[in-house]
Amino acid sequence: MSVGGYCNAYGAENAGGMGNPYGGLIRQPIAVQPECHAPAAHRFTWICERGHRGNPVSYCEWHAAEFTGRTSARFEGGQGEAREHNGHVMTIPWNLRREITFCPRCASEAPECDNPEHQRMMRGRPGRCGCRETKSRLRLELVS
Ligand SMILES: [Zn+2]
Ligand SMILES: [Zn+2]
Ligand SMILES: [Zn+2]
Repeated sequence: MSVGGYCNAYGAENAGGMGNPYGGLIRQPIAVQPECHAPAAHRFTWICERGHRGNPVSYCEWHAAEFTGRTSARFEGGQGEAREHNGHVMTIPWNLRREITFCPRCASEAPECDNPEHQRMMRGRPGRCGCRETKSRLRLELVS
């Protein structure tokens, strides 16, 4: 089963190489951009409960499973030593499962933290406090 092209789990297939695993839901370049060599199995759309929606994005079965927290999937596109695993249903190692449940756009549009106590704690640390981030549920919907 294939919808054509390769899995775009890391955004490598996007025009201009713009790394974005969410189908354009956020504009955020990814510094390290690995590629997935598996054929795309399905096209999906990331949809947030507050109405944000990405463009359709193609994933292989393995990455769709990884992103939704499933525990096993068919592996494809392995190269070199990983080639022997191609076509087999395998357990996804727990440390690769990264169920994406909250909308990254909602998080990125959150207002800055206004709690002076948090600001003191965050001083000198990278990133932001995030206490005012909206945790909007994100789901991966099958397109084709
Ligand atoms: Zn993939
Ligand atoms: Zn959202
Ligand atoms: Zn805060």
